[in-house]
Amino acid sequence: MTLRSIGHQASASNIGNVNCQKKSIPCDRDCPAGMFELVKQSSVRGVLHSHTNMSGGPHSLSRLAETASLIGLEYLGVTDRLMTPDQIVTQSAEILKLNKNSDFKLLHGIEVEADKDGNLPLPDDIMLICDFVIVTLKENHFQSKTAMTDRAIRAAMNPFTSILSHPLGDFMTMGENNWIDMELVLMAAAQAGVAIEVDANPSHAKLDWHNCMLAQQFGVKLVIASDVHRAARLVDYRHGAEMIRSAGVCCRQILNSWGADEVKSFFGNYSATNSSASA
Ligand SMILES: [Zn+2]
Repeated sequence: MTLRSIGHQASASNIGNVNCQKKSIPCDRDCPAGMFELVKQSSVRGVLHSHTNMSGGPHSLSRLAETASLIGLEYLGVTDRLMTPDQIVTQSAEILKLNKNSDFKLLHGIEVEADKDGNLPLPDDIMLICDFVIVTLKENHFQSKTAMTDRAIRAAMNPFTSILSHPLGDFMTMGENNWIDMELVLMAAAQAGVAIEVDANPSHAKLDWHNCMLAQQFGVKLVIASDVHRAARLVDYRHGAEMIRSAGVCCRQILNSWGADEVKSFFGNYSATNSSASA
């Protein structure tokens, strides 16, 4: 099976499983018929991409959690990058401590950059510590469109990948659809059960309405995220919610409109952090 045939199999198995009755828009198969509801700002219950002072941000884990709780979120996914295995283990212990006796929950994620072949840089046992793994494609944009697309598909098909982030690069100047075949990437994500990030940072490139609708048709979960590097940017998810709303996306299609436990079940990683948080 070639990488490109992956997408076509995903298409046949996922498109049009359920039609939401009110809008006649193909929605996610988990969305009960007749329950279509356009995503809105208040649909978002948590943020799943943020950085502490361990990877470029000025704020501590506890400061980010406190701010996220104050603005009404139920959980925050912390996804520092370029962390050593020791730092990841230490952060996991800190998250366990902060989650204890708290209604607000921290999810322990990690952000990694896929190499030019789509491989992930961390050992499996380290990624298993985390609740989820965000895989980015920010670098190596010298590759051809075919190579970039295959790289993204390989990254999406990696069993440790939970969310494919920045699939269109980091900044708007990259130009959507010019250097990656997003439809094939979405098809692979559908087959792999990988969510796709819709970057809510106003200055970053993001999926356009067409690709958001395609993701919905293929059954790909979307994550509204803004790659938060400081507490004040946590509110950017609201911009992302409005943008996705204009694409006609159902709230159930947005992974971070689910509760923290549902999100962790979706990722399917029953790590030490997960077990303790629910204890
Ligand atoms: Zn990031």
